[in-house]
Amino acid sequence: MPMTRKPTVAGSNDALRQRDLAVVWHPTTQMKDHEWLPLLPVRRGEGVWLEDMEGNRYLDAISSWWVNLFGHANPRISRAVAEQAQTLEHVILAGATHEPAVRLAERLTAIAPPGLDRVFYADSGAAAVEISLKMSFHYWRNLGERNRRRFVTLSNSYHGDTLGALSVGDAGLFRDAYAPLLLEPLVAPSPDCFGIEPGQWDVQAERRLASMRELLNAHRGEVCAVIIEPLVQCAGGMRMYPPAYLTGLRALCDEFDVHLIADEIAVGFGRTGTLFACEQAGITPDFMCLSKGLTGGYLPMSVVLTGEQVYRAFYDEYTTLRGFLHSHSYTGNALACSAALATLDIFEAEPVLERNQVLAAVMRRAVRPLEAHPHVGEIRQCGMILAIEMVQARSSMTPYDWRERRGMVVYQHALEHGVLLRPIGNVVYFMPPYVINEQEIEHLAEVAAAGIDRATRH
Ligand SMILES: *Cc1c(COP(=O)(O)O)cnc(C)c1O
Repeated sequence: MPMTRKPTVAGSNDALRQRDLAVVWHPTTQMKDHEWLPLLPVRRGEGVWLEDMEGNRYLDAISSWWVNLFGHANPRISRAVAEQAQTLEHVILAGATHEPAVRLAERLTAIAPPGLDRVFYADSGAAAVEISLKMSFHYWRNLGERNRRRFVTLSNSYHGDTLGALSVGDAGLFRDAYAPLLLEPLVAPSPDCFGIEPGQWDVQAERRLASMRELLNAHRGEVCAVIIEPLVQCAGGMRMYPPAYLTGLRALCDEFDVHLIADEIAVGFGRTGTLFACEQAGITPDFMCLSKGLTGGYLPMSVVLTGEQVYRAFYDEYTTLRGFLHSHSYTGNALACSAALATLDIFEAEPVLERNQVLAAVMRRAVRPLEAHPHVGEIRQCGMILAIEMVQARSSMTPYDWRERRGMVVYQHALEHGVLLRPIGNVVYFMPPYVINEQEIEHLAEVAAAGIDRATRH
C-alpha cells in the first residue's frame, strides 16, 4: 500500500510527496521505506539551507551528497550559468570546441598535481572511473602488453555504480547482487585506521603497503592499475588513512610499473584540507578522476586528468586503432563548464582553504561532548569531513547490526529538527558546504548528538 491517503493541500509537502511516489523511483532507496519515511520536498535553497514546500528550513550538512561547495543558489555560480545559457548551452565536443571547455582544461591542469596536463571530459563520477579504467587498459594494449587486464582495488572502496565502476569497488551492499556481472578485481587490504591511535597510523600504512607489495609481486605483468580513494574512503563509512600510504603506494606503482588511479571524486576541491588530497602525499597519480564539487554542486560533470605519456600512447594514425573511442552525449557541456569556472573563481578570489581550517576546528570542538558517549566508538576528521562512528560497546568497538538501521533514527531525528544528515550505516558524518558558519555548526552538532542519543538508547 502507498502512504495513507489523507486530503492534501495543493503546494503542501504532502501533495508533492504523493505526486512523487506515484511516478519517481529514487536513487539508492528501498522505495518501500517511504511507506513510513516521509520524503523531504524541497522548494528552494539558499546557502547551507534548504526550504520545504511549507517554508520549514533544513541545514544541508552533507552538501547534497558531497557535491555542494559554496551553498545552494550561490549568486556567483548562478549568474555564470545564466549568462552562459544565453550564449551557448552545449555543442558536440568531437570535432568542435568552445571557450569554456578550453579555459576549464587550462585551469584544471594549472592547479592539478604537476604532470597532469590532459583533460578528458565526462558527465558523472562513475563515467570518469570507467574512462580511467579503459584508458589504463588501452594504454598497456597500445604498448603491446596484452596480458594486462587486472585492476587492484582496496577493501571497503567505492568508485560508482555502473558495472565497470562497481567492479573495482568493494562495498558489499552495493556490489554483491551484481557480482556475476562484474570484473574480478584484486583486492588489497585497506589502510583504514579505524580504532587505531593516531600515533600508529603510519605503522598501519606500512603494514598495508607490505600487503600491496605482495599482491603486485604475485601478479607481475597482469595489472593495469591500482585504483584508490585518497585519504578518505567516503562511501565506505568515511574511513581515513594517512598520506604516508599514498606516498608508499606511488613508489610501489613505479616499482612494479603499474598505473595509479586517484579517485578524488569525493575528496577533491578542498574537502581534505588541501585542494586535492594527493597533494598531502606530494604525489602525482597517472589518472585523477574529479566530479562532485567540480561544478560547485550545480551540474553533472566529471573529468579524468592524465599525463603526456599516456596521451602519446594513443596518438597515432587512425588506422592503427590506437585512439580512445569513448564519449558521452554531454561531454564538455558548456553550462557545466561555466559552473566549474565560477567555482574555481571563488577558490581564487577567497581564502577558502584557510577559512576551512577554522571551520574544521569549530566542527571538532562542537562534537567534543560526544567523546565520552558510551556508544561513540570514534570521532575522526580529515579537513571538512568529520565522522562519528556509533558502536554497540565502546570498550570492545563491537559494531551494531546493520539491520537495526540506527543511522536512520539519526536521519529522522535530524530532519525533525531542521538538519539534513544522511548517516552511512552506523556512521554519522558532517560534510557541509564551505559557507557554513560557527553557529550553524554548533546547531548541527547539537542535533546530531541528540539524534545519536536517541538512536543508541536501547
Ligand atoms: C560518488 C563517487 C563516485 C561516483 O560518482 P557519481 O557521480 O555518483 O557516478 C565515484 N567515486 C567516489 C569516490 C565517489 O564518492
